[in-house]
Parts: sequence; C-alpha cells; structure tokens
Amino acid sequence: MRKTTLLSTALICLAMLSSCGDKPEVPAGDPNTKSSGSVFAMDTYMTVTAYGDDREAGVSAATEEMTRLEKLWSVTDEQSEIYAVNHAGGGSTAVSGETAELLEFALDMHEATGGALDISLYPVLRAWGFTTGEYRVPDEEEIASLLEKTGAEKISLGDNTVTLPEDMEIDLGAVAKGCAGDKAVAALKEQGVECAILDLGGNIQTLGETKPDGTKWKIGIRDPYGEGSAATLETGEGAVITSGGYERYFEQDGKVYKHILDPKTGRPAESGLASATAIGDEGRYCDALSTSLYVLGAEGAEELWRKRGDFDMVLICEDGSFVITEGIEQSFQLTVPAELKVLRK
Ligand code: ADP
Ligand code: MG
Repeated sequence: MRKTTLLSTALICLAMLSSCGDKPEVPAGDPNTKSSGSVFAMDTYMTVTAYGDDREAGVSAATEEMTRLEKLWSVTDEQSEIYAVNHAGGGSTAVSGETAELLEFALDMHEATGGALDISLYPVLRAWGFTTGEYRVPDEEEIASLLEKTGAEKISLGDNTVTLPEDMEIDLGAVAKGCAGDKAVAALKEQGVECAILDLGGNIQTLGETKPDGTKWKIGIRDPYGEGSAATLETGEGAVITSGGYERYFEQDGKVYKHILDPKTGRPAESGLASATAIGDEGRYCDALSTSLYVLGAEGAEELWRKRGDFDMVLICEDGSFVITEGIEQSFQLTVPAELKVLRK
C-alpha cells in the first residue's frame, strides 16, 4: 500500500517536472505536441508556437491579441488611439488604460535612459523616409528644425489623457512589439497554455521555464554580419529582444543609414554597435532597453546595466567582438569565432 503511494507520488512529481507550470496535471495528449500560428502585425511577421492541450485556443487568442494591439497603437491607421493623439492639434486626447500605461512606461524609460529612448521622433523618422521606405538624407538645417518638434519630456499624461504640443507626433515602434508580446503571453495563459514561444521578428518571448521535454529554450542571436545566428542563449521564461541596424536601412553614396535614431542628433545612431540584445522578465522593458542600448553604445549600455542591474545583455560591436553580462555567462555560447568580454558587477 505504502509502496503504491510512494510510486504514485513519484509519478506525479515526474509529471510536474516534465511540464511547464506547477499544476500537477496528467496530460490528455502528448505534451510535446505543438501548434503554430502566424500573423503580420506591427510591420512584423509574428509566429506563436504553443504546446499542450490548450495550444490551439492559445495560439488564436495570442494572434488576435497582437492584431488588436496593432489597431490600437498603429501610427498610420486613422482609427488608432496613437493616430488620434498625433492629430489632436495640441489638444488632449482620451486613451484607453492600456495605452496610457504604455505611454507612461515609455516616458519613464526616456528618463531612465538619459533620453536614448524617445517616442517623439516620428517627424524625424519620416524625414529620413523610414516610415514609408522613400529614403532620403535630410540636410542639417532640416534636421535641426525637426528636432525642435521632438522631446518626450514635452508629452503630458493626465488621467487616461495625452497631450502633445502641436506639430509633435509619437510612434511606439520601439516598445509596442515587446508589450504586445507580454499581452499575447497573458492571452495564452488565460487559455490554459503553460508552454509557448513567440517569435516577433527579433523579439523572442517564452512562457514556461522549460519546453515540455524539460529542456531550456534555446534562442539564437542573429549574426549582424552573416546568415543565421552568431550565438545562442539558453533561457527560462522571459524575453530576449534584439535591436539591430540590419533590420531596416538604406545606402546612399556609399554610406549606410539605419533606422534607429540618436534623439540628440536626429541622425541614425552610430554608437559602434551592430546589435544590442536585452534579456529579462518583461517584453516591453527588454524592447525599450534593446533600442536604448543600441543608441547608447557599449560604454553607455554598461553604465545603464550597472545602474539598474535588473537585466542582462549581449552587445555585438562593429569590430565583431561581443560583450555580455555575467548573469548569462553560463547559458551563452558563441557560434562564430569572436572576442568575448564578460561584464561583472
Ligand atoms: P525593431 O522594431 O526593428 O525590432 P526597435 O525595437 O529597436 O526595433 O525599434 C525601432 C523603431 O523605433 C524604429 O523603426 C523607429 O520607428 C523607432 N525609433 C527609432 N529610433 C528610436 C529611438 N531612439 N527611440 C524610440 N524609438 C525609436
Ligand atoms: Mg525596441
């Protein structure tokens, strides 16, 4: 009798170990069975892969969530809340709680990064053609006058209202995908999913500390100078989010212009980094960070990491060398020969 109890306890423990969450459930189907779904939203091909019995419902809920958020936060959709904010002619606009929350977060990150993250660069991005693909290099005078229309500190948030000075326009491109990832993960959980991975073009977010087979998630860090990945990272639940100049750029007269701008100069950031990856618990935080780290460069990124201490990072420098933080030292592996520096506290 006692033996049987011990045996069943052991079996339950095994079931718990091989599943993602902490609910001791006997799976009805093979927990390794997965379903995927894709959606094109936020200018990105997004794929959700979920495991377990509730996977199909989870994938649908997650992709629907991303489509819903794109409608809410699009700069170009005339029905979006951001469009309304941008076309209020200096007046106040009422927005939903979730938009207000993301705006407040973006303004906090503007301050925390010394202005490296700035959601008010839209007029400058447009002048460079990054919003349409009709690229051009604006002259110094044009950039100087456009920069007068920027500065996230001029945005004021009330009780679910936003007010921009006339002529200012915002774009949540640097944080929306990460936040949408968080909300998609929440939608998956709501459907009962305990294991899932989201690939939102350079943004990877996971649900569950391991895959159903008990192994960690293995995530590739893209090689900015070639095909495939330059390194891999094994992680638990969380976000691994990369910003790189290779995502969107154009070339003119032998010079390459990339889509992440330095808010101080109004020109593509030239900080010496080819890409910056932020690793942490929350998608929106890592998304804000990856853009900021890219703008700040290796030195500024290290300073921010020391100050905040609540994320890890992988920086790929333009000379091909890597900088990583100690928290991921054991789980990080180079797949190309390169110099590697580990930052320690
Ligand atoms: P991606 O969206 O390509 O994955 P990011 O998260 O780094 O990359 O966001 C880059 C986008 O954010 C740009 O396409 C642009 O719309 C906007 N952007 C560019 N520079 C900045 C900046 N310094 N701060 C905030 N947003 C920016
Ligand atoms: Mg970002």
